[in-house]
Amino acid sequence: MGKVVILGTGPAGLTAAIYLARANMKPIVIEGDQPGGQLTLTTEVENFPGFIDGVMGPELMDNMRKQAERFGAEFKRGWVTDVDFSAKPYRLQVNGLGEIETESLILSTGASAKLLNIPGEKENIGRGVSTCATCDGFFFRGKKVIIVGGGDSAMEEANFLTKFASEVIIVHRRNELRASKIMQDRSRGNEKISWELNKSPLEVIAGENGVTGLKVKDNETKEEKVIQTDGIFVAIGHTPNTSFLNGHINTDETGYINVIPGTTETNVPGVFACGDVQDKKYRQAITAAGTGCMAALDAERYLEGNTVHDWSKSL
Ligand code: NAP
Repeated sequence: MGKVVILGTGPAGLTAAIYLARANMKPIVIEGDQPGGQLTLTTEVENFPGFIDGVMGPELMDNMRKQAERFGAEFKRGWVTDVDFSAKPYRLQVNGLGEIETESLILSTGASAKLLNIPGEKENIGRGVSTCATCDGFFFRGKKVIIVGGGDSAMEEANFLTKFASEVIIVHRRNELRASKIMQDRSRGNEKISWELNKSPLEVIAGENGVTGLKVKDNETKEEKVIQTDGIFVAIGHTPNTSFLNGHINTDETGYINVIPGTTETNVPGVFACGDVQDKKYRQAITAAGTGCMAALDAERYLEGNTVHDWSKSL
């Protein structure tokens, strides 16, 4: 039986692993099908403190992993399908690894890209529909692409895609963008980017060779039209990866784990949550790393029997 298991290997999980390994807690880290998390899908990270000229996302994650390994964290590949917190030790059912017992658990499973759920979308993933410009942008060299969304992700991906595509069209359902001013200004100043504002996507149009267009509706005039395109990048936010918890941990109505404010404690003693799986407000690499550190310290105190909070407090 392990003392502490960490689920997920984004900045939150890996920071927790570094702290717990360094405290000689011998954490077992379970990585799913996207080791390193969302930062492995990005290019340059310009705002992680300590890197004057920025750092590539995959390199940052690789370094964090090596740092955790250096102190003795043990990494295992697997997929948790169920959890049992009814008695100690807690039990996890893990595809590929069987049952794992642990005294405490850190949930840092992050969040996954949302889809539009419109006709033609799912069946054309990999045939022109993508949720990751960094992964798939290269395939659209010299082509025309659409980005759906009006947040920072959409702006960032649109700018990134202009390195490859001949034209990038941002389709957003409102007239105002949600993105921060600096990101908006960057996109507005990019002459390869054009705008289709106040348009809701209705259907992905595709032929034998993949995507050919996106049908949209103007939310003011209600007129429908098809925008010709070779690719559609969906950048409309994320959903927390909590379905495997099967309701055993309290979440809000959108699936984000509830923690006692100012801590990483969940409603189950000894189970802690950090990173994007419990954060729908900040969602930055540095905040994820910060809460990863908090989870490690909370778990350490719990294992030493010094729980700071009143567990009867309901979440
Ligand atoms: P977000 O801020 O939640 O924006 C999602 C966008 O998608 C919104 O514009 C939203 O429209 C639109 N949308 C949502 N559902 C839709 C649907 N069904 N159909 C059409 N449009 C839909 O998500 P995000 O851009 O992924 O950013 C998430 C967080 O990460 C933010 O805190 C952001 O600041 C941060 N981030 C930061 C950076 C950076 O600083 N470099 C880069 C990326 C992300 P409405 O506006 O109408 O709701």
